[in-house]
Amino acid sequence: MTDFEQVEEDFPVISKGEVLLKSTYISVDPYLRGKMAGTHDASFEVAKPLASKVIAEVVESKHNDFKPGQFVINYLQWKEYQLSDGSGLSLLDDKEAPLSTYLGVLGTTGLSAYFALLDIGKPKGGETLVVSGTAGAVGTIVGQIGKIMGCRVVGITGSDAKTALLKSKFGFDEAINYRTIKDMKAAIAEACPNGVDIYFDNVGGSVSDAVFPNLNAYGRVPVCGVISNYNDTEVSASPNLLPLVVYKFLTIQGFLIADFAPRFTEGTAQLAQWLKEGKLTYSETIVNGFEKLPEAFLGLFEGKNEGKMIVEI
Ligand code: NAP
Repeated sequence: MTDFEQVEEDFPVISKGEVLLKSTYISVDPYLRGKMAGTHDASFEVAKPLASKVIAEVVESKHNDFKPGQFVINYLQWKEYQLSDGSGLSLLDDKEAPLSTYLGVLGTTGLSAYFALLDIGKPKGGETLVVSGTAGAVGTIVGQIGKIMGCRVVGITGSDAKTALLKSKFGFDEAINYRTIKDMKAAIAEACPNGVDIYFDNVGGSVSDAVFPNLNAYGRVPVCGVISNYNDTEVSASPNLLPLVVYKFLTIQGFLIADFAPRFTEGTAQLAQWLKEGKLTYSETIVNGFEKLPEAFLGLFEGKNEGKMIVEI
């Protein structure tokens, strides 16, 4: 927490061609930690405001395309008020869906679940899907899409309350608490009597080490993220997985959701349709107050969220 600083600036003065935006919802996401470590891109700078997906209200406009009262979304700075020249801003319809869902189930986390599971995981009815980091923003949606596709779905998460929620609210067949189970490899084998056909990996590390030996021949592994590694200061020793990849004919594929940008309209439309039909539901952990941004962000690494973690300003 001491690595964060909240500073006051002069209130921005709007010029022709600009909009004045007031942040409504700010997304906190694990990938920001990767940016800080320099693994994603070079856009992070110490002592500059962080930026992530933000939903903001237009409070004043000197731009032809926007008027006060409209809501927009874009990668914006963690500020209460800021100016924009309009580039990259997309208008949101708060009558179509609750605004916050555009950061979660209808945003990049929902889209990550949709595209990586369907395009890389290629689920088929009757197969077994295991999802790690399951009770978070991506995982809750992956598991439900797996159920829509007819899979047996097993989640791995970090508390008994979350394992219960996965089964009661999200329809998972089984859920395993990785913090209390001593022998994860055996627990996964027990929860997956027909082996694992798809492993959707959100966490990496020892959880994934326990899933891999349970994969069936021709297993598919969409690698969404490795949150268990993001705070590492040393390279961890991992088991040598390549023999398994060969003898089990495994396909392991990482992705970054931006790669699917040309198909976002398709993905959002399908996710919205499933929401309307009641086939998909979602959870959000909404933390109130601009000053709570660091706490909410750090909470992701301690499992403080159920579903999408969002800060409401
Ligand atoms: P999230 O799941 O909403 O929050 C992170 C969750 O990870 C926490 O709630 C916690 O739940 C779990 N976790 C934290 N530290 C852990 C550890 N050491 N070992 C195991 N689990 C741990 O985050 P998300 O937005 O859905 O993202 C999930 C993963 O996908 C992240 O790795 C993220 O970087 C990645 N991601 C990638 C893309 C892409 O384009 N490739 C897009 C979105 C997200 P527990 O209570 O279960 O521990």
